Amino acid sequence: MKIAVAGVGAMGGRYAYALYTSGQDVTLIDQWVPHVKAIREHGYQINLNGEDICANMPVYFPQEVLEAGTEFELVILYVNALQLEGMLQAILPIVTNPKTYVLCMLNGMGHETVIEKYVPITNILLGNTMWTGGLVGPGKIKLSGNGTADFRELHPDGKEMALKTVDVLNTAGLNAKYTENVFYQIYKKASLNGATNALCTLLEANLHAFGSTNAAAAIVRPILEEYAAVAAAENIHLDVDEQMAVLEQRVYDPVNGIGTHFPSMYQNLIAQGRLTEVDCINGIVAEKGARYGISTPYNAFITKLIHCKEEILKITKEEYL
Ligand code: NAD
Repeated sequence: MKIAVAGVGAMGGRYAYALYTSGQDVTLIDQWVPHVKAIREHGYQINLNGEDICANMPVYFPQEVLEAGTEFELVILYVNALQLEGMLQAILPIVTNPKTYVLCMLNGMGHETVIEKYVPITNILLGNTMWTGGLVGPGKIKLSGNGTADFRELHPDGKEMALKTVDVLNTAGLNAKYTENVFYQIYKKASLNGATNALCTLLEANLHAFGSTNAAAAIVRPILEEYAAVAAAENIHLDVDEQMAVLEQRVYDPVNGIGTHFPSMYQNLIAQGRLTEVDCINGIVAEKGARYGISTPYNAFITKLIHCKEEILKITKEEYL
């Protein structure tokens, strides 16, 4: 399959490398100048489960791909949520090609609303992923562990391509699954993220340290309850007790889970001085709550606190993009 990965940081790099080594025709697209230059000069430096690999994959700036007039069957979007609209605009002629499908598995919720502004709904595949990755610096990523990719089409016309894409990803070892109830999956992952990610960032704690505090359960439950209330307004049942159990058993656990992990907003804001994805993780719950007449003070408050922290650290959108 002729595939473009648009945004080749930690996750895009992981997917691009897996697809490339499985024999697919993969083009990497990115707008971050030092990153593209480093990959061109030194290859993509990937530490995969402790092994150092140098992958010589073709990487381009959006304009270069447009000038080449290349057509793709699939574009996998792996930018940060704040860069999503900018990337879609930068590769517009590619993603508006009626033969091209776009797959989005970013964290958080509501990305389809942005993508639908540019891509026909018939050509959108949406889902989420449990794979992880870390950006070490320009041209360098660190990958470990296992994961899954769950997605489906947004319109019945896209089903054939969704199934074909599942096969292609599976051939690359990416554990893909066609998932009927994809919005339920998205809510499940976003709510675990929304309950912990921003708080670990503000408290500068890893998941285990935060989850071990006496107050954690009492803070986290109302956040999850707000998620469940807005999900219910969309006919999705999110079980708060079940999500609390997942937090205890998997998320906070430093041995059998991901407890030692500092989540993505911490990585972005504290470690790298970049803006966060809080608007599509907690902010969107407050937004949906306002739309459905549901009170969501916890998610609204958390979103504002993160934006305060971004301001205090003087991180602006212009610098970041
Ligand atoms: P990333 O930051 O590694 O890369 C995303 C994009 O940002 C790339 O285009 C990259 O080139 C660019 N970028 C990185 N640093 C930059 C800088 N300093 N200036 C300008 N551009 C920069 O992000 P990621 O971890 O690959 O995540 C992409 C999406 O996948 C996000 O929505 C994220 O929440 C989601 N996700 C991430 C993980 C994970 O473990 N990393 C897991 C699941 C989902």
